[in-house]
Amino acid sequence: MVGFVEKKTPVSVVPRTSVLERDKKGMPLWDTSSRILALVGDNAIVAKKDTSPQDLKHLFVVILPEDGPDCSACGETLVRVDSNRVVMRVEPEKVNGLLSALHAMKGARCGLLGALPEVPIVPALPEPPSPWIGVEAKLDYIKHAMKGIKPSALESVIQTLCSMGTRVHDTPKGQTAGDKVEAFYKSTRNLAHQAKVRLISHKDTKQESVIVTIPGTVAPGETVVLGCHIDSWNAASSHDNPAPGADDDASGVACLVAVFNALMKLGPPARTIELHGYAAEEVGRTGSKDIASCYRVQARNVVAMLQLDMVLYPPCPGEEKVLWFVRQDTNETLRQQLSALGATYLETTSQEIDDVLGSSDHASWFALNYPTVWPFEHPSNGNLHGAGDTLESLGNQKKEALQRALLHARLALAFAAHFGGVSAPPATPPRRRGGASNGGLSRKKANGRKG
Ligand SMILES: [Zn+2]
Repeated sequence: MVGFVEKKTPVSVVPRTSVLERDKKGMPLWDTSSRILALVGDNAIVAKKDTSPQDLKHLFVVILPEDGPDCSACGETLVRVDSNRVVMRVEPEKVNGLLSALHAMKGARCGLLGALPEVPIVPALPEPPSPWIGVEAKLDYIKHAMKGIKPSALESVIQTLCSMGTRVHDTPKGQTAGDKVEAFYKSTRNLAHQAKVRLISHKDTKQESVIVTIPGTVAPGETVVLGCHIDSWNAASSHDNPAPGADDDASGVACLVAVFNALMKLGPPARTIELHGYAAEEVGRTGSKDIASCYRVQARNVVAMLQLDMVLYPPCPGEEKVLWFVRQDTNETLRQQLSALGATYLETTSQEIDDVLGSSDHASWFALNYPTVWPFEHPSNGNLHGAGDTLESLGNQKKEALQRALLHARLALAFAAHFGGVSAPPATPPRRRGGASNGGLSRKKANGRKG
């Protein structure tokens, strides 16, 4: 009998639930001789505890379907995770080449690779995300704040970012993207609630991430995160060609700046709310991987994470009130809760989509067992990752595209307000007898945990 020598790989794939479940006493059932490296969709990537760090270097989860292009020249495929994804070892100098090869796939979108985190995962099924204000409530002051977000404000931020020419992480201009985004937040006229804006540096990119923190007044140790990415990409050449990135992802940045401005006019949140602009998403989710890893090491309680990446493409006629939620790497309960908020405030219906040839920074959080949600544009923008991703290219569909971004900005505000427990704005004295009040509920009710 001929013996086959199985090729050894340092990582293997097991069902996600098998590594997270605990027994009745709360002890992990997972065999502790293995390390959990990352959660990916319905699976987990694991390695033996004695695997050398060298063997786990330069590993990426790559979106590469079974019938995808041959990428063997760009790295070694170690294991298939599911029908859409593999784990590959990719040396840093081959990352750009791999991205170009992956872009040959029809329908390829953003976030085609994600570096594996280097910190341990908490082996427990996540608690269902609990909103501070129940998602069935419809509060006038939140509705009013949502109406205050205007498409012109979104357009202005998108145009300013596009006019940089490129935000590719390792270009000189791209390395100023963090400053640019920081300036949007610092230019807010009504800075309130002790909000702080800071830049975060990374070891694998010179581009900096941006973190805006609005401290919680009741449960500051519980954090609600809203994310987007500040870099852009050009699939043809990462350095010489323009990469305006209007949809991908100036649209996400613009929505979060709008959410921030709205929050500054409302009352303080019960929980801490953070708005993140991640560096270098396109080359392996570098910024979000670092930040999520840091929060996991510090045992930060992130109760819910929402990502906005690509929300500036008009839907088909008749689908203006449809929200699409990507199932991969997101939390089912959170999808349902956000869908309920959309129905309550925006009269939207929701659909779930699968097998998207792309991902985003929420996957960095999901990998470490945080609950995430990713509402996404649909159908796909054909102008991604090139000189054509501009407001101008949208032509006579620009208005509809900005309406789509507006819908996502307002949805994100509802998420921040309900999960963060944002209270009504401070009452302003009526100008004359019978004048308008603040229209909000009493603080007690707004802060009451109903979820
Ligand atoms: Zn993107």
